[in-house]
Amino acid sequence: MQTSLTQALLQTRTGMEADEILRNCVHCGFCNATCPTYQLTGDELDGPRGRIYQIKQVLEGHAPTARTRLHLDRCLTCRACETTCPSGVDYHRLLDTGRELIEQAVPRPLHARLLRRALRFILPWPARFTPLLRLGQSVRPLLPTVLKRQIPARHKADAALPLTQHTRRMLLLDGCVQPALAPQINQATRRVLDALGITTVTAADSGCCGALSQHLSATKEARGFMRRNIDAWWPQIEAGAEAIVVTASGCTPMLQDYGRLLVDDADYADKAARVTALTRDISEVVAAADKTAVFAAPHSHRRIAFHSPCSLQHAQRRGGTVEGILTGLGYELLPVANSHLCCGSAGTYSILQPRLATQLRDNKLAALQADQPDIIATANIGCLSHLAGHAAAPVRHWIELLEPLIPQKEH
Ligand code: SF4
Ligand code: SF4
Repeated sequence: MQTSLTQALLQTRTGMEADEILRNCVHCGFCNATCPTYQLTGDELDGPRGRIYQIKQVLEGHAPTARTRLHLDRCLTCRACETTCPSGVDYHRLLDTGRELIEQAVPRPLHARLLRRALRFILPWPARFTPLLRLGQSVRPLLPTVLKRQIPARHKADAALPLTQHTRRMLLLDGCVQPALAPQINQATRRVLDALGITTVTAADSGCCGALSQHLSATKEARGFMRRNIDAWWPQIEAGAEAIVVTASGCTPMLQDYGRLLVDDADYADKAARVTALTRDISEVVAAADKTAVFAAPHSHRRIAFHSPCSLQHAQRRGGTVEGILTGLGYELLPVANSHLCCGSAGTYSILQPRLATQLRDNKLAALQADQPDIIATANIGCLSHLAGHAAAPVRHWIELLEPLIPQKEH
């Protein structure tokens, strides 16, 4: 499409990148067919083509309104449109730029600013999030069902982790909310990787990957999280860690973007590029490993409905990887209708856009439970938490399904 961005913007790297992305779009509208919000509202402005047009107008100097901000807020950043687009339009990068500009041009009402600030103040910080979660969990039995569903039951950490030291070593991202909500995910990962001959290490000072701040247009804050992680991981990287493994598929694309996001930072650009090169989703690591003679066949709970998070199938383009691992090990994968659609979790979306998020969750659960699975499996803590409170079957991270297949070591 033709563009006429302001000269001031075209002098910047962001402006040049946005211009290039816009020029790739031929306005065909194929992307609308797979956009979850367009499907729900039927409004062109709630589809990717309409959002691209609204961002283009802002970049060309037209003043945005609260309405423009609403249509961009309703975007899940699920990137289904990118998978569908025949022209390779890098929509999410354009969205980040558009959101940041509109955030500055159209200030939000006080209550909305306070809510966003509270989310950024609590969720990325385990020392703040964990006590609040524990408080909620302590009164959970007394709460009515509607509130109980919002607070997951507590999973106790299991201290008996593998101690074997292998030659192969990988860094494991702890992240922000996952250790408190579901410590069993990284515990299962450590055991599975140990069975595959890989020792996992963590860096005490690392934390949130920065995605939450980035998606709330707090880009300076996001870069702070990135630099802190790089500093925390660097000694292990220099000591020979061969990869940074991520078990929350929503965090993997963020780490894979560190190189691009810190490209102008003279002190961190090279290190960030190295982090990007080393980042591996856990599905990639397990898929590449030789699993023959490592795992036994499952005895029970074999029928699995897998919800492939958008961050796995669209952002990472790893659709089919987990499904291949599970079927290869003997699980039965049930068909799931509209598996390309988002479940509505999308980071903080379920809190900030509850009406649309609830519709998407209910649709997703209906599709996942159509054949009455033993277990619903997924690959991201956000999707897991969003679905679990309302699902009839238990919802687990897929790596947890591999743990019981590891033969017990004889003592
Ligand atoms: S983003 Fe891609 S699919 Fe959507 S209108 Fe543009 S070119 Fe067509
Ligand atoms: S990222 Fe998802 S919700 Fe946003 S425009 Fe693309 S398909 Fe629609």
